[in-house]
Amino acid sequence: MYFRLYLGIDMKSDNTAIELEQQLHHAGFKGRVVSTNHLPELESDFARLLETGDLNKDFYDEIVSRYGLDWDFKPPSKLPTASSIIITAAQQPKISLEFHHDGESYYGIIPPTYVYNTDAAVLKVISKYLDEHEYRVCDARVPAKLLAVRSGLARYGRNNITYIDGWGSYFRLRAYFSDAPCMEEHWQEWRAMELCNKCTACVKKCPTSAIGEGRFLVDAGKCLTFFNEGEKGFPEWIDPTWHNCLIGCMICQDVCPANKDHTSWLMPGAEFSDEETIMILEGVSRDDLPAQTREKLQKVYMLDSYELLKRNLKVLIDRVKGSGIS
Ligand code: SF4
Ligand code: SF4
Repeated sequence: MYFRLYLGIDMKSDNTAIELEQQLHHAGFKGRVVSTNHLPELESDFARLLETGDLNKDFYDEIVSRYGLDWDFKPPSKLPTASSIIITAAQQPKISLEFHHDGESYYGIIPPTYVYNTDAAVLKVISKYLDEHEYRVCDARVPAKLLAVRSGLARYGRNNITYIDGWGSYFRLRAYFSDAPCMEEHWQEWRAMELCNKCTACVKKCPTSAIGEGRFLVDAGKCLTFFNEGEKGFPEWIDPTWHNCLIGCMICQDVCPANKDHTSWLMPGAEFSDEETIMILEGVSRDDLPAQTREKLQKVYMLDSYELLKRNLKVLIDRVKGSGIS
């Protein structure tokens, strides 16, 4: 202890959280560090959502089994001395994939957050800084949106999407545990965007009526995203013309005034020839696709969701053709 004080390490460590946030900022990311002392509050926030029914228990159970999202509100066994939680945000555009088919081009949008390539870059910044200070970092399985709002990094919109000033909703969140000390106190009450006080654009535009005026949690069991991320067929009440993305849905984000400077941020992801599009639509198995097709899908992180691609691409093509789902 004396040795550490003599070297000034403990004095320096008081600034660890601030300096880490600065490092992330300099690298083009955003981050907040909060103490693990707040984990019980995060857990009770989440439990309250389930108790009040704002988050449907059956729906939550389905999500847990589908994505393995079993939140853990304790430091993990690999880092039991964790004293801080780091929540980060990395800007991401929408990605456009072009599919050639029958002499036409069809475009499928992948919303921000589905592409993981920023994760490694964020973790590199964190690891480098913490390694230099002899601290460790590991993934945290905590509700990232809730943590982002409680840490002051983001605010909720009425559509239950999180927003960051200047970035809109065009970013991906990640959370980590660390044994670095956290002396800075960002923790705050749950906050929604002020814009939402006088706006109901997303409520009016949501095709499935999943967003209510009086609550800030969508009825996720009605959200298009829930269905097109799942492997079951679409229920009959979903109008085929509502589909607007290859996966997920951008309608409530595209109409949101907080995104007015970001909605046109669309990057080309990959282009698929007639032959490749036919293979996808005919359900050629992932392993039987040509290597270059797999590479293109992997580049936009769609190889993991390949089983959904045939169905989701077909509804988008049918929508454009105006023929509905056959
Ligand atoms: S569209 Fe309006 S109400 Fe909906 S999240 Fe954006 S600002 Fe809030
Ligand atoms: S993502 Fe689409 S379906 Fe879901 S709440 Fe927003 S507009 Fe509605």
